[in-house]
Amino acid sequence: METRVTEVFYSISGEGISQGIPTVFVRMAGCGLRCGKTENGKLWCDTEYSLSPNSGELLDLHTLLKKIESLSPQPTQVILTGGEPLEGKNRDMTISLGIQLAERRKKDEFPLPRIETNGKESIRAIDHAVFTLDYKLPGSGMEKHMNRENFDILNHRKNPLDEIKFVVRNHQDFTRAIEIISEWKLEDCNLIFSPVYGEMDAAELAEWVKSSHLKNSRLSLQLHKILWGNQRGV
Ligand code: SF4
Repeated sequence: METRVTEVFYSISGEGISQGIPTVFVRMAGCGLRCGKTENGKLWCDTEYSLSPNSGELLDLHTLLKKIESLSPQPTQVILTGGEPLEGKNRDMTISLGIQLAERRKKDEFPLPRIETNGKESIRAIDHAVFTLDYKLPGSGMEKHMNRENFDILNHRKNPLDEIKFVVRNHQDFTRAIEIISEWKLEDCNLIFSPVYGEMDAAELAEWVKSSHLKNSRLSLQLHKILWGNQRGV
C-alpha cells in the first residue's frame, strides 16, 4: 500500500482541543475542495502545496511508520492531515496507520491518531482514530459538499476527543454554524470556532462565541502561525 505524502514533521498542535501538544504531523497529498474560492473571495487554504494528488512523494505504510517513530521516540500525538487524509488512496493508508498505531501504542497516552478531515468524506467505519471534523460554512463556498451523515456518526461515537471545527469568515457563517449545531443536536461535541486567517477579526469572533453560551464551544487561533508565521513544516 502506498500514498503520496507532502510532509512528515514534528511540531506543536496549533488548533482545537489538542492545541499545544507536541505532535507528529503526516500531511497527505490531494484535496478536492478549494476553501474560500468564491465569487467575492480568494482561496484561503494554507496548504496549497498539498492540494494536488500528484504532489509530495509516494510512501508505503512501513516507511511512514518508521518516519513517525524516528521523529518522536517517545510516542506522542499523531495528526493525519492534508490535503485530505480520507480522499482517494489516502483513505486506506489513514485507516491502516490508525490500526497499526493503535496496536503499537496500546499502553501509551496517545494510542490513536487524530484525523483532520474536511467534512466531505465519510468517517464511517473508522474506529482507530479520533476526529477533527470540519464543517465548511457558506463563506468557504464549499458547504454544498458537506456530508452531514458524519454528524450522526459523531453523535453515536460519543468520543470525548472528537471535535467539530467551524472556520468563520463573517457573521453569516457564525449564524449558520449555530443553526447546524442546533439542527444536528451537536451541543455535546467539542465545538471549535476559528477565524479565517487575515480576514475575520478574532476579537469579534470571541464576542460571538461568548454570546452563544454553548457549553462546549471554544475559540481557536492557529498557534503555529502565532509562533512561527505562515510557513511550511510547523
Ligand atoms: S479542505 Fe483543507 S486542504 Fe482542502 S482546500 Fe480546504 S483548507 Fe485546503
